[in-house]
Amino acid sequence: MTVRLVLATHNAHKVTELRDILGDLLDGIELVGYDGPEPVEDGDTFPANALIKARAAALHTGLPAIADDSGISVDALGGAPGIHSARYAQLVNGTPRDDGDNLRLLLENLGANADRAAQFSCAAALVLPAQVGPAVAAAREFVELGVWPGSVLREPSGSHGFGYDPIFVPDGLSVSSAELSPDQKNAISHRAIAFRAIMPIVRRELL
Ligand code: IMP
Repeated sequence: MTVRLVLATHNAHKVTELRDILGDLLDGIELVGYDGPEPVEDGDTFPANALIKARAAALHTGLPAIADDSGISVDALGGAPGIHSARYAQLVNGTPRDDGDNLRLLLENLGANADRAAQFSCAAALVLPAQVGPAVAAAREFVELGVWPGSVLREPSGSHGFGYDPIFVPDGLSVSSAELSPDQKNAISHRAIAFRAIMPIVRRELL
């Protein structure tokens, strides 16, 4: 028997990475895609926004739901783009959402600054719904945060991954996260840290 768990993301890259990261941890669990309405992500933090996404999917489907919220925070830019990572260029320049535009804007804003410290963060949230009379409520909520420290290159390098991977060098390595193989990235990334922390809770609560 398997239990169903909704994965509340429309980002195909994330789904692929998550399936790789989770592997055996998904035994007995069927990951179900979510195509319901997207909530307004108006939280101030990665955990708040991950919970907003998981809550919306759990309430819409009546099923347990997981979601993540992630991004890159650059010290010399006061933590920007942070929770706005996916929409950085769109928010600043009004252009359509585009990974390349985001990455170029970050490099432009950081300029020749010698302080290149940055970190990828990922919050993974689990929301369990419950039937309360005729309505579905978000009964129990859990969230875990993964942080992957590193620094920002002066120009992009590598073609794996997505988003800001070509300009992020993880601490302890000399190549960008876009130069790591998917297996290498998925062994150590912020998303791996967050989801490996939430999965024991998912399994304890669902199985
Ligand atoms: P979210 O869908 O709101 O979580 O947006 C996450 C955004 O942060 C993505 O669109 C990327 O721009 C960036 N991001 C998050 N994780 C990664 C990663 O592993 N590599 C590169 N960029 C990432």
